[in-house]
Amino acid sequence: MAESSASGAAEESGGDDASALSRLIGYARPWRGRIRIAAACSITNKVLDIAPPALIGMAVDIVVKREDSLMAGWGIPDPADQLVALAILTVLVWVGESVFEYAYAVLWRNLAQDIQHALRLDAYSHTQRLGLAWYEDNSTGGLMAILNDDVNQLERFLDGGANDLLQVATTVVVIGGAFLWLAPGVAVVALLPIPLVVWGSFAFQKRIAPRYATVRDRVGRLNALLANNLSGITTIKSFVAEEREVERVRAESLDYRSANSSAIRLSSAFSPLIRMAIVLGFTATLVVGGRMALAGTLAIGTYSVLVFLTQRLLWPLTRLGQTFDLYHRAMASTTRVLDLLDLEPEPDSGELAPESVDGEFRLEGVSFRYGNGAEVLRDVDLTIPAGKTTALVGATGAGKTSLIKLLLRFYEASEGRVLLDGHDIREWRLGALRRAIGLVSQDVFLFHGTVRENLAYGRPDASDEDLRRAARLAEAEDFIDALPQGFDTVVGERGQKLSGGQRQRLSIARALLHDPPVLIFDEATSAVDNETEAALQRSLRRISEDRTVIVIAHRLSTVRHADQIAVLEGGGVTELGRHEDLIDSGGLYAALWRVQTGSPQAGSPQTGSPQTGSPQTAEAP
Ligand code: ATP
Ligand code: MG
Repeated sequence: MAESSASGAAEESGGDDASALSRLIGYARPWRGRIRIAAACSITNKVLDIAPPALIGMAVDIVVKREDSLMAGWGIPDPADQLVALAILTVLVWVGESVFEYAYAVLWRNLAQDIQHALRLDAYSHTQRLGLAWYEDNSTGGLMAILNDDVNQLERFLDGGANDLLQVATTVVVIGGAFLWLAPGVAVVALLPIPLVVWGSFAFQKRIAPRYATVRDRVGRLNALLANNLSGITTIKSFVAEEREVERVRAESLDYRSANSSAIRLSSAFSPLIRMAIVLGFTATLVVGGRMALAGTLAIGTYSVLVFLTQRLLWPLTRLGQTFDLYHRAMASTTRVLDLLDLEPEPDSGELAPESVDGEFRLEGVSFRYGNGAEVLRDVDLTIPAGKTTALVGATGAGKTSLIKLLLRFYEASEGRVLLDGHDIREWRLGALRRAIGLVSQDVFLFHGTVRENLAYGRPDASDEDLRRAARLAEAEDFIDALPQGFDTVVGERGQKLSGGQRQRLSIARALLHDPPVLIFDEATSAVDNETEAALQRSLRRISEDRTVIVIAHRLSTVRHADQIAVLEGGGVTELGRHEDLIDSGGLYAALWRVQTGSPQAGSPQTGSPQTGSPQTAEAP
């Protein structure tokens, strides 16, 4: 069920947070100005926050040195006046600190909001441009983990972590500078732990990054399983597999827990280690500075400032553990989101987007395989004429749906080319090509919403009258009117509140309303009863008069009136012609027809199976 999550790449590149950060900085380029202002506010706030010890030092300086104090040197000789000036300065510092704290909080948090919003939207729009093959290799839940969880992780970091990192750096630089200026001798011992901390942080980063990459990967897998199970609840219940699924979720959740535990063990050791290093610097300052003060080589005011400052140095550095933790988590997430953004979208370099499309498809020597799988189509040559109805028949797994996917360019042919109106479909703009085609696919998908919203999906501005007309053509009007709220009835997720045949008819009506030059019905009426199908066939024959229609059906009564019928067998078209021709030629089609009409020659046990639609019924006027 839940195969690999969308995060395989994270584990490989997870080791390098520095590159994740530089990629993030690259991404955040448009916000550069605001980031600079926010950073300036963070730094100013920190500088003002560190100021009080200096103010205390000045106070001591005033009381001890009086007319010879530092302030006296600024032109305030009277110690009493100096104290007043110091008081004013103190108030200014505190007010400034508060103002800048408010400013950086607002700026960073809004930046976090703006960037997470943009990133989520970018990531989502990018996923929409990825080819179908990518979706088949990845799980919805894993993708959801990236679009939600990982983006949120980054938001959390920008919310507070970026500011924290900046302020710690400011602290180290300002206090280190102050030390060097005030007492270079003491500075050397006080700053001793800093290189140790920096080295430790890098060593820590090396070890923690892969662990967080694993955590993010586990989140993806857990999400994938949850999403899969929630949408497969009917199957789970019908096989009474609830217990087993709880076990599977338990196993994934335990994996996630243990991945986190391994990260926690390491990250929790960081703060205590840093504190030990800092305490070394602190005691050294106390002792070395104290001796210098005793010996009279260091002013008492300076000594007290130094002691307070080492304290200020200690505090933020102990928080560094948490901040780094947030940072590494964010970088693991950033890698996943940016890796997603780096995926190559579907190729769409074609220019062709004509006003009107005739709708003639031609396959020339087309071979096709999924990835490295077996060849599904082999050297197929087929013309699907404009304005005519072409049927594709063949055993299950013969490659009918795959051929359709090539027409829509969901996949590229491995060899040969597909042409629409004489132009290679690679010359067409992808949007123009797909807009020209209305696909009623084999697995009907309806969105959670009303009947009306689902019908109008391809033409949101359609009038009520148009909606009704399309519904009538698709034999859907009666049952829609019988629904509790008619066209405003909510169909449930994937349309699960409707019957299989009702879903099919809604999806036919949806394609008809869209009114494209090419209509493709892939087993579009397989779930409706024979009578409804016959009625549907009659309406469809009317609307298919002047457009290209491709019909795929196992029930041959559905396709017998087609202008040409192509039989797919062993990867190639083995028979081509009208119903009568194919019956006469006595090949696979004729055999299938005999089986389905229950003609005696066939003598197959399948005769009378529910799959077997009687053409007589289908023909009933
Ligand atoms: P049916 O009548 O049952 O709908 P079909 O003729 O439409 O069958 P296809 O869906 O085209 O058959 O599948 C042809 C082959 O390609 C099958 O063997 C199938 O297993 C394989 N196949 C289909 N889709 C994929 C995919 N996304 N990845 C790999 N193989 C695929
Ligand atoms: Mg199919």
